Amino acid sequence: MNRNFIYSGSPAHIVFGEGKSALAGKWVEKIGCRKALVLSTPRQQADAEALAERLGRLSAGVFAGAVMHTPVEVTEKAMEIVARTSADCVVSFGGGSTTGLGKAIAYRTDLPQIVIPTTYAGSEVTPILGQTEAGRKTTVRHPSILPEVVIYDAALTLDLRVGMSVNSGLNAMAHAIEGLYAEDRNPISTLIAIEGLRAFKTSLPKIVEAPRDIAVRAEALYGAWLCGTVLGTVGMALHHKICHTLGGTFDTPHAETHAIMLPHTAGYNAVAARELLAPIADIFGGSVGGGLWDFAREIGAPLALRELGLSEADLDRVAEIATENPYWNPRPVDRRSIRALLQDAWEGRRPP
Ligand code: NAD
Repeated sequence: MNRNFIYSGSPAHIVFGEGKSALAGKWVEKIGCRKALVLSTPRQQADAEALAERLGRLSAGVFAGAVMHTPVEVTEKAMEIVARTSADCVVSFGGGSTTGLGKAIAYRTDLPQIVIPTTYAGSEVTPILGQTEAGRKTTVRHPSILPEVVIYDAALTLDLRVGMSVNSGLNAMAHAIEGLYAEDRNPISTLIAIEGLRAFKTSLPKIVEAPRDIAVRAEALYGAWLCGTVLGTVGMALHHKICHTLGGTFDTPHAETHAIMLPHTAGYNAVAARELLAPIADIFGGSVGGGLWDFAREIGAPLALRELGLSEADLDRVAEIATENPYWNPRPVDRRSIRALLQDAWEGRRPP
């Protein structure tokens, strides 16, 4: 057993519980702020406006222009409103896209962020920001990007569609699974990852049956916090590299791409990291790749990349980009094996 590690705990405040989003105003004051700009996507504008209304005198209004991939033009528009309203903090209400916008503002202004997540993406507990400019995605990691307060309120996730819950949950699980074999893993990140995976194994099949069961929703949100924490703590590898290539170059949808690729990348790496990935076989049954694929099928996740509109001919380019720069992975990565893995994922074949 390797007992060499570095562990740094996150300084963020995590507030967890049904109805706790009603305390947003208290938290604005607790972090020493007086005017919060509420952020959301256009789809969640009505909820964001209701939240701003509850904030009362603490509200600087709503900017409901958040979109996927945090385009710099959108951030600049939001920055104008921050300046015009003299907002001294942001409250990001929504999924990873809205959280991304809040992080982009914080990165440029150092304004504190309160995040109220409504998906399982986990961005709210990472110091990582992915943004796009002229179609190019870049990623930065900086302490100012980590939100100061996260309020997890399962009541806000009851309307998250079943399909999106499933994909978002598998996206979160990917953070935990890559965390299990991360080069810079530590005993705490491993414990958190295993607990996060258990939470999703229990909750996702129940969400499919009863999406409005608040206890089950809370269990999934708990898993999202744990899996996101792993992403914020340790480095990712092959799985995230392939998903970034697919999303960045071929514009495949974020959560679905993760959901489809996960059994394949985990199965590939299990050959070299069998002991580290043993908890997955314990939790999901069967082999690492096969067990995860069976679980994904059971909960109705998409299984084949071709369902996302990717053509078979694109796979060569994906394999090329995903292997052109060296990065750490428990099993060596070469273009031929990654091309074969992509073919299986494209066809939706069950990994061994
Ligand atoms: P999303 O934020 O794009 O949300 C998708 C849609 O669902 C949006 O229209 C949103 O308004 C709506 N929605 C969200 N929650 C809802 C709810 N409870 N009920 C009804 N509708 C709801 O999707 P996402 O998967 O949460 O986030 C994806 C983005 O997050 C990607 O851009 C990804 O790169 C980023 N991300 C970043 C990190 C990080 O650490 N930087 C981590 C994970 C994801």
